[in-house]
Amino acid sequence: MDFAYLSPPRQLTEIISRIYQQRLTTTSGGNLSILDENGDIWITPAAIDKGALTPEDIVRVRPDHSYEGRHKPSSELPFHRQIYEARPDIRAIVHAHPPGLVAFSIAHLAPNTAINPQSQAICGQVGYAAYALPGSELLGTYIADAFADGANAVLLENHGVVTGGPDLLQTFQCFETFEFCAQINIRASALGAFHTLSDEQVQLFQRAATPMPEFTPSLHTSQELELRLQICEFVQRAYERQLMISTGGTVSARVKGNRFLITPYGFDRKYATPEGIVLIDDGQREAGKTPSRAVQLHAQIYRDHPEINCIMSAQPPNATAYSIVQQGFDTRIIPESYIVLREMPVAPYGLQYQQPEAISAMISTSTPVILLRNDAVLTTGTTILEAFDRIEVAEFSAQALIQALSIGDFVPMSEEKISDLKRRFSL
Ligand SMILES: [Zn+2]
Repeated sequence: MDFAYLSPPRQLTEIISRIYQQRLTTTSGGNLSILDENGDIWITPAAIDKGALTPEDIVRVRPDHSYEGRHKPSSELPFHRQIYEARPDIRAIVHAHPPGLVAFSIAHLAPNTAINPQSQAICGQVGYAAYALPGSELLGTYIADAFADGANAVLLENHGVVTGGPDLLQTFQCFETFEFCAQINIRASALGAFHTLSDEQVQLFQRAATPMPEFTPSLHTSQELELRLQICEFVQRAYERQLMISTGGTVSARVKGNRFLITPYGFDRKYATPEGIVLIDDGQREAGKTPSRAVQLHAQIYRDHPEINCIMSAQPPNATAYSIVQQGFDTRIIPESYIVLREMPVAPYGLQYQQPEAISAMISTSTPVILLRNDAVLTTGTTILEAFDRIEVAEFSAQALIQALSIGDFVPMSEEKISDLKRRFSL
């Protein structure tokens, strides 16, 4: 889908339904708007079911404050207007009460976005606005002041969050990424102290895009076309199951030899399309497309491990929390966890950009999954389904481990039980 070609009412209903489906708002909470080239504000209506909004429900508010539409504009229109006045570069606003960020807002704290390079790059400067009555000009003043100071994501004390950006898709991606960053912070805090990245370390990620020569494929084989579709289906499935977010997650699959397909750089995971996937052949990229920044790492793994046909990385909140805390991810939880994940070593931050061969050397049949420090879970498999299953099992296992902490001590399976498993399942 080319989101930029949708009209403002369609963009707004598409994004509000994504927010609702991803459980990032209740039906009564939250409002979104777009400022168009005429100075009109298109905004979600007051008190209408967020699960069933149609483009006809969107209200158009003129610069003279008159409005057109079936419903009244959201009661939070004053703060939307004040943000647009304070920051002319902002053309879209998202406001909601997602649970992770509300947790921070009621604890009067802000999540640390330096936990991984993506959160910091996408959320930018974070602001904080003092409490004021919903719908009041005073609330608008507090929020607009935080935006005027340069923030693009502002936490509202005892209320929720507001993000702003140059268009609605980017504003939504900032909102979703910020909420997941909050979710990772909360889970990591339950596990103890956590690592954050210095500005220099974040820069490594920004500089990771190494130029690659282009080639024009002479034809797309039927096997390649089928793999493109499968990659998209698994990316969308990972998104729907909250294993990936709009801005994070990479999938690649081997076509043959050193020829493989990989997801592009900077695409929205919900809108993955077969034509957007990038073909890589012996160090060259398909003409006109930009592959994921992990492309060199994936190329190295395919070169070194002929049995591997798929590689995935993702940042689901529970497993990613283990990538930022000191303690290791113990996979001796239940038989499924140990059989699917085996041992899970941690690769130091930055290795994926500077020394991909070192990460490739960590991968073996007994270590098919690697935690990338302050980044992601990296899984490999002989099939796409196997690599996907490993992401899912890693996230479920991490969630069970973290939840066990609040009810008692985690008792890992004994060495004897693990030896039995290894014998029985030929591990
Ligand atoms: Zn609100």
